[in-house]
Parts: sequence; C-alpha cells; structure tokens
Amino acid sequence: MSMNDLEIAMSRTWAEINLDDLAHNIQTLRAVLRPDAKFLGVCKADAYGHGMTECAKKLAACGADYIAVASVTEGAELRKNGIPLPILCLGQANPQLAPLMCEHDITQAVGDFENGSELSSYAQSVGKKIKIHVKIDTGMSRTGFYWPDSDDEKAATAQTIKKLCELGGLEYEGMFTHFAVADDDENFTRLQLKKFLDAKEVLEGLGLSFKVAHAAASVGVLNYPEAHLNMGRFGLVLYGYASTDTGNEGSTLGLKPVMTVKSKITAVRRLPAGTTISYGRTYTLKRDSLVAVLPIGYADGLPRVLSNNFSVKIHDTLCPILGRICMDMTMADVTDLQDVKPGDVATVFDGDLIPLAAKNSGTIIHEIVCSPSPRVPRVFIENGGKRL
Ligand SMILES: *Cc1c(COP(=O)(O)O)cnc(C)c1O
Repeated sequence: MSMNDLEIAMSRTWAEINLDDLAHNIQTLRAVLRPDAKFLGVCKADAYGHGMTECAKKLAACGADYIAVASVTEGAELRKNGIPLPILCLGQANPQLAPLMCEHDITQAVGDFENGSELSSYAQSVGKKIKIHVKIDTGMSRTGFYWPDSDDEKAATAQTIKKLCELGGLEYEGMFTHFAVADDDENFTRLQLKKFLDAKEVLEGLGLSFKVAHAAASVGVLNYPEAHLNMGRFGLVLYGYASTDTGNEGSTLGLKPVMTVKSKITAVRRLPAGTTISYGRTYTLKRDSLVAVLPIGYADGLPRVLSNNFSVKIHDTLCPILGRICMDMTMADVTDLQDVKPGDVATVFDGDLIPLAAKNSGTIIHEIVCSPSPRVPRVFIENGGKRL
C-alpha cells in the first residue's frame, strides 16, 4: 500500500486552510471598507500561520490592491512565488536589505531619516528608486516619526520628513500610522487619528502629496469608518476573527475562521482510577478511564501552558486534555465516548477552540493562529477539494 503526499500530510497532525472561506472573508470585508479605499491584506508571519503564498494568491484573485509583510525576505519570497501586487514591508528594515527591495520591488516603511537616507544612497548607486511609506508615530511608540504637540516641533519634524521624501533614490508614495488600542480605548484612538490627520495636513502644506494615507488595521477598520482614509490594512479579520480575544462573538459580519488544526489519534488506552498522566504527574484519573493519545505537542504549536486547561473535539464532543502537554504528544479524556479508536480525528483548533486557547493561555487569537509550527503541514481546501 503506498500513500500519496496528501495522505502522508494528513496522517499525524495538520492544519486545514480553507481558501474558499478566506475568499468569503475578503469579499465580506471589501463591503465594509469605504468603496474608494484600497484593500491591503496582511500576509506577514506566513499569513498568520495560514500559508503566505496561497493566501496572497487568493487575495490577488479576489481583487486586493496591496499585500503587506513584516520583513523584506517575506516580500522577496512572495515575488519568487509570482505575486504581482504591490508589497508593503510594514517593519522598518535593516538598510543592508536595500538590494533585495530593489530587486523585488518591495515598498518599504520608513520611520526615521537615517534609515531612509541609507536606502536612498543604495538606490541612487544602482540608479533605481525605492518606494516608501512614511511611518508616523501617533502613540503606538514602536516605529515612526514621533508626532509632537507644539507647533515648533511639528514644523521641525515635517521639515525632516520633507527632506526624506525628496532624497534621490526614494519615491514617497504613502504615509501611515498604527493604533495601539483600536479594540478598547476610543478616546486614545481618536487622538491618534487626529494627530495623524494633523501630520498629513502639515506635510501637505509643505507641498508633499501622498497617494495613500492609511491608519486602521482589522479592528480599527471595523470600529472607525472615519479612519479608513485611502486604505484599510486587514490582518486577523481576513483569517476569520472579528476581535482579538473573543473571536466572532457579537459580530454580525459572519466571518469564517479559515484554519482548523487536526490530529489523528495514535492510541486509545484503558487506565485505572488513580493513575497519573504525563510529566510531572499533574493529573490523577478520578475513575477508570479511556485516554486518547494525540500526536500533537508544544513543538507543533499547542501551547504547553494549556496543560490541564483546554479541550479538543473528538466525535464532536469536547474532551479535556489530561496532564502536561509534551513536546510531541498530548493525552485527552475520551471515557464518555463510544468506539473511539486509533486513526479517529481530533480537532485541536477551530473557530471555537482558537478563542478558547487564547483565553486559557492568557493571550490573543493572533498568537494562537501563528503557533502551528513548520512541522504541521498546511492542507489547502479550495473549491471543495484538498491539496498541499
Ligand atoms: C500586523 C499589522 C497589521 C495587521 O493587524 P491586525 O490586527 O491583524 O489586522 C496592520 N498594520 C500594521 C502596521 C501591523 O504591524
């Protein structure tokens, strides 16, 4: 008996990525965005664990205008895989990567003059231009030109930005900022938007005209229509979650979670009451039990902090994890199920379990969807079929 590659991928633990659902989400979100604003799909971090190239291809096919990545190498990989859309690198890059930006036509975020002038020097030396989006720091305090309160300081910062934009070798195309609390603090978010619009006005007063100004990521686009400006940056929402912690609760959008992580039961063991389970003996069976062994562990992206504090779905029933999650295996209680056998499929992460995993491990959904490791093959579902 020989197995094909897809069967091999689905023999242990794998992540199913439903590209039809991704397409549905793109279309749903496009309708939320102001019609004259551009649609940017964020594909950084392997598209939040969903597979960067496949997701970028789907974005392109569904009419997205822009793709964003976090590093120049991610952008270069998309180009090698034939993605034709403009690619914006959101993270400020090491200027040593200027040759890659030129080679692969990566648009680069720039948040300080020195960084931009190094890019400019390289681009000029090879007779090319690097497109840039100027990053304004309005309160995230990560990267960007800090936008001050006093008129004198504003004028000085604006002059520096003007000097940057007019450097040979650079072509300034956009300006943007990033919100720190788009999900809760309305006053601070409005203050950030106000600062950004102020910066835009001051810069335009100096004769700079940016083709695209953008401010809002997923939750910002949903909560603040006035922050759409010329472009919305869609990250987490693309992958099916309308909020960073509770998922789709309270949202009327009907987004579809794109990722499901599945694992094929390795063994089902009958063990007597009083037996302790896994490293550290942190769980003692209270009754004679059936224990399923799942071939997924923290090295696959099931956070060890969920030990004794998470459940997986087997035969559509929630089955608590017993004891510590190991590097490669995890045990679950299947005592109450009928006829569970090796080879049955457990759902470890889906649209319900991902928010639960985030909550129980004290983090956000972003971190959970990014967690399936390279050992977990991505199986793509498209037009109803499955493929690698
Ligand atoms: C990651 C990132 C985004 C996307 O954020 P989501 O909350 O996932 O939508 C947008 N803009 C910037 C600058 C980012 O770093």
